[in-house]
Parts: sequence; structure tokens; C-alpha cells
Amino acid sequence: MKKISIILLFSIMLLPVFSESIEILEKKLSETNGNKKTVILIKLLEEYIEINLNEAEVYFEQIKNSLINTNEPDLKIDIYNSIALFLFYKEKYNESIEYIEESILLSKKIENMSKQAISLMIYGRNLIALNKNKLALKKFNMGLELIGESDNFLLIGKLNLYIGSIYINKSEYNKAKKYYLNSLSIFTSLKNEKYEALANRMIGSVHNSMSDYSLALEFFYKSLKYYEKSNYIERYASLLNNMGVLQSDIGNSKKGLELYLKAKEIIKGSGYKSLESLLLNNIGTIYQDMGSFDKSLKYYSEALKIERARDNKLGIAIDLFNIGSIYIEKMQLIEAKKYIVESLKLSSQIEDKTGVVLSYISLAQVKKIQNNFKQALKFLQRAENEVKTIDSKELVKNIYEEYSYVFTAKHNYIKSIEYYNKTKKINNELLSKKSSKKLFEMRTRYETEKKENEIKNLKYNHTLKDYELNKKDLQKNIFFISFIIVLFIIILLFRQYRLKNTSNKLIQSKNTELESAYKSLELVASTDPLTKLSNRRDVLKKISYELERTKRYKRSFAIIIGDIDDFKLINDTYGHDAGDEILVSLSKILKNSVRKQDTVSRWGGEEFLIFMPETDIIGGKVLAEKIRKIIENETFTYQNNDLNISLTFGVGEYIEKMDLHQCIKNADKALYKGKKAGKNCVVID
Ligand code: GH3
Ligand code: MG
Ligand code: MG
Repeated sequence: MKKISIILLFSIMLLPVFSESIEILEKKLSETNGNKKTVILIKLLEEYIEINLNEAEVYFEQIKNSLINTNEPDLKIDIYNSIALFLFYKEKYNESIEYIEESILLSKKIENMSKQAISLMIYGRNLIALNKNKLALKKFNMGLELIGESDNFLLIGKLNLYIGSIYINKSEYNKAKKYYLNSLSIFTSLKNEKYEALANRMIGSVHNSMSDYSLALEFFYKSLKYYEKSNYIERYASLLNNMGVLQSDIGNSKKGLELYLKAKEIIKGSGYKSLESLLLNNIGTIYQDMGSFDKSLKYYSEALKIERARDNKLGIAIDLFNIGSIYIEKMQLIEAKKYIVESLKLSSQIEDKTGVVLSYISLAQVKKIQNNFKQALKFLQRAENEVKTIDSKELVKNIYEEYSYVFTAKHNYIKSIEYYNKTKKINNELLSKKSSKKLFEMRTRYETEKKENEIKNLKYNHTLKDYELNKKDLQKNIFFISFIIVLFIIILLFRQYRLKNTSNKLIQSKNTELESAYKSLELVASTDPLTKLSNRRDVLKKISYELERTKRYKRSFAIIIGDIDDFKLINDTYGHDAGDEILVSLSKILKNSVRKQDTVSRWGGEEFLIFMPETDIIGGKVLAEKIRKIIENETFTYQNNDLNISLTFGVGEYIEKMDLHQCIKNADKALYKGKKAGKNCVVID
């Protein structure tokens, strides 16, 4: 936390860095040669990577070619890094890592920490994609360590962001949120809208995962504001996908579908294959939920085509499975079996246990429908064996649930209820897991409802003798179940109604709410809580703005640092509360003694920094002397005690091309001289 506040403090002093526009870069490209050209090519590649991967490829090739002619190590590292970044976007993770390793070797050799940190960042992103979260975290932390002392805040922000993503993958949402918020505050103070938008999107999706839908929506909208006017279509489409997930989570399938389709339209033909495939899958799932199986099939098949072209085995296995599950719904069992068996083969090949278990369950489903209960149970047995090696309650639940269905189909209601109870037990356990509580609640209700409906229907379709054994139990159960179904439906409908309502209202009031929230946040972040003066961070921000103007108009400004004399004595004699009260009254006096354009800030404990734009050292001295006299003549009272205090002041002047820190240091030095000379005086640097 401390590190972050230091980062924040200094980041304020940085001026926003605007990236050069693509047109300018492209124009420059035609006018330059050699190393300079390579630098521009790298910039262009990095811009295009997020706009159009196909077009980025052209620059990528040119950069790759320039590698042979480049001897300058710094540039060589940049080339390696940009090649690696492109390969990362192309999902060639292992190849990307090869380049990164080259680049790290080189940056170690020339001891360029900052470049090494960039390489580590790309390394980590590749590792996340390869599902090696632990190693990725290590790389990111190494990166942070390397640049800990430097002023590369953008990089620090990005590293925080990617660390957040690791925690998302590990379902540690609170931690993820913490890192995302860190990165957001860095990007905000850097005024880097692009990354601010990204951080907002990630924070939104964390909230979505935690089922805080309204908050999620709020952050998504902040992000949306930026992406709608940017040309970073990959990010924009990813955001729309996130928003689609949110809408379908809250039961608004139609809206979800709209968002997915829009996202799909946006990235059409730009080469973002994995995102496209994800969107197709999400669209397929919505159609499946709506019961439009043919449409669903169409989208899953399109996704499958992409995954086959990418040769992404996991993706292929998932799509095959999805298609198989549609065929089950359509009762085309031969087709279903074909797809699921193929998915099963692939999943075991790549050791995706989840896929294996799901496939066995689906095969059991097929066999159950074909009334081949023996085979169905066999498949479930296999699923049960397989699931032991992974720790997934959700999957165990699915297996028990299917057991229950199979036994129901076999009219073995004792066993069926036995498994049904097991399913319910796991559901309850899952429910108690706080993080995903709400989401599971909804799913569970839906699933319970489905299951109970089935049992209910069976009751009416079979003759009494089928369940004589368990008549009483079952009757009780069915009565109870019907009651619960009605209750659940009411709750579900009510919840959905409420969620939709809140989300609509939220959209309406989002602007005003966000603005006022922002204002109060800014205020809190910029004022000292005790004295209500500007804090250190805020005054530095003001000075940096002025610095820019000063440079442009060749003006100067003055800085006064005042320190209360023998303040410790006051604390020791009258107590800390007395000290606090004096600080507050003194602050008011200081504020009233300066001009409107000056800023009085609390610089440290009993130190104040007064910033005076367009003032030279003589003017500064006059003002400091005026304030000194006012305070000297003022009597402060604390619990009927009259107290006199004094301040010693040091004045510094900023002149052209000076380092800001030097100017502050000079004022500090003057102050120190004043203390040595007997206090209660003004000394100029
Ligand atoms: P000098 O004239 O050399 O500045 O002596 P000094 O006693 O003012 O300076 P010193 O640095 O020895 O002590 C500063 C004191 O200010 C010690 C600290 O407790 C007090 N102080 C700093 N911040 C606060 C605050 O927020 N409230 C109160 N009551 N006291 C504070
Ligand atoms: Mg002091
Ligand atoms: Mg003091």
C-alpha cells in the first residue's frame, strides 16, 4: 500500500503521455530509414495489435526482417519484445516465450531494468495463456521489483492489472479486485484513458464474478464510454462480451445475445480468432438456453471451425461437446454419440479431466435415453473414477444428478432419491461458498426445478405399482417438491424482475451518480483530513501543471516551506489534541493570508508548503514575512491557555529548466538555515 501511495504521489507529477496517432506514424514511416524506421514500425505494430491483427502482420514481418541489421542492443530488445507481443496475440505462446528469453538475456547484459520488466510482463501474459498462473505471478513480481524505484508508472499499472487477472483465474476475486483498483488509480493519475478503460472493464468483470451485478454494470459503462469512441476493437468487443455475460447471468438472454452479436460484428475479419470463437460459443449457449437448437448448432459449428483452424485442442473438444449436447436435446442420439466420443478422445489426449468427466456424463445420458441403463451406469462409474483426480464438487454433483436420473428411468426410486439427496447436499456445500454464492443460487434453483419437474412428471406417467415400495416417501416428497417449485419460480421471477429493474435504473442515473462519486473521490484523495488543506499529492499536481505553463511562457514561481517552531514542546506540554487544534486554526490563518491563486498545503506533520504561481523570490519573501508577522501576533487558545506560536520559513524560486525537486530542496535548505539562525524568521535560498 505504501508503495502504491508513493507511486501515486510521483505519478501525479508526470504529464499525460499521448500516443502518436497512426496517421502521423505512417507518414513518418515513409520518410525515415534504418533504426529510426524500426522504432516507428514497432510503435505501429503495437497500435495495430489491438485494432486489426491482420494488418499488424504486415508490420510484424518488416520488424522481423530488421532484426538482422540491428546491432544496437536497446533496439534489439524492443524488436524481440514486439515480436513476442505479436506472437502472444497470435496465440503462439511458446514461440513468443522464445523471443522473450532472448530479450531478457540481452537486457540483463546491458542492465536495462525497465526493458527487462517489459519482457517479463509479456512473459507472464504468455504463461497465463498457458495456464501457468503461479509462474506468471513470479514473472510479474520480478518485473515489479525491477522497476520498483523507477518512474515507469504505466508499466507498474499494467503489471498490477495482469496480476489481478491471475487472481481472477484462481477465483480469488477480492485479491483480483485489489490489484485492479491499484492499476486503475495509477492509470487515472497518469490520465491514460486507454488503460483506465481496460482496468474498469476488469473491475467490472470481477464484480460480475462476485455477483455484484449493479457494480459490475457501473464499471462496464465507464469502460464503454471510452471504447465507443476508440478504435481498439479487440478491447471494445471483449467489453461487450463481458457485458453480455452479465446480462445472461441476470437472466436477460435477449440483451446478452444483442451484445454478443454486436461484438461479433465489430471484430469481423480482424483476425481475433479466439475472441470470435468465444463469442460464437456464448451465442450458441444463449440459443441453447432459449431452446433454439438449430441456431445454437450453427454457432457452435462455426466456433468449431475456428478452433480447428487454430488447432486449439481444448477449444475443439469443448465445441464438439457442445454440439453433442445439442444433438442430445434434439434426440439425435447417433450424431450426439459421435461428437461426444470425439470430444472425449481429445479431452483425454490433452488431459483435460473436466472434459473427460463431462463427456462420460453425456454418454450416460445418451445410453439412458436409449434405455440401456447398464451402459449408462458404467459411464457414470467411469466419470466417478475420473473425477476423483480433480477437485470439482460441481462435477461430482453433475454425476450424482445423472445417477439420479438414470435410476428414475429404471424406476428405482429409492436409489434415485438417494442420489438426489447427495446432489442436494453438494449443492448446499457449494452454496455456502461465499464467492459464488448468488450465482449458484440461481443455477441451483433452475436445476432443482428441472429435476423436480421430471420426477413430478414421472409420477403421473407410471402406474402406482412402480413405486409402491416408496409410496409414502415419494408422495411426501412430491408434495414438498411441487411446493418448492412454485416458491422457486416466484423467487426467480421476482429476482429477475428486480435485477432488470435495477440495471435499467442504473443506466439512467449512471452519469450523475458517477460524476458525483468521482467528485467526492477526488476531494478525498486531494485534501488533508485534519486541516482540509491540499495534501502533498494535490499540491504537487498543481505545481506540475504550473511547471508546464512556466516552461511555455518562461515564467517563474515561488515555493515557501514553513515549519512550526518547537511544536514538539506544545504537544508535550498540552497534549496531542492541543497540537491538532493549533494545526487546524493555523491552517485557516495561512489560507486567509495568501492570494487567491496561491495554494497552501500540508506538506508534512507540522510543515506547510505554499505554492505561489507567477511570483519571484522577492515576492515570495515579502509574502512569507507577512504571514510570519500575522502568526507572531496571533494568540491561540486551548482550554483557557493562551499560546503563542511561530514559524520559520524557507523560500525557493523555480527558474527555467530547473528540476522541481531541486527547487523544493532549496526552500527546505533555507528553512533549515532559518532554524539554525534562531527560528521565527524568513530565509531565502
Ligand atoms: P523545530 O522548531 O526544530 O521545528 O522543533 P519541532 O519540535 O517543531 O520539530 P520536531 O521535528 O522535533 O517535532 C515535530 C513535532 O510535530 C513532533 C510531532 O509529534 C508533531 N506533529 C507532527 N504532526 C502532528 C499532528 O498531526 N498533530 C500533532 N498534534 N502534532 C504533530
Ligand atoms: Mg518539522
Ligand atoms: Mg517544527
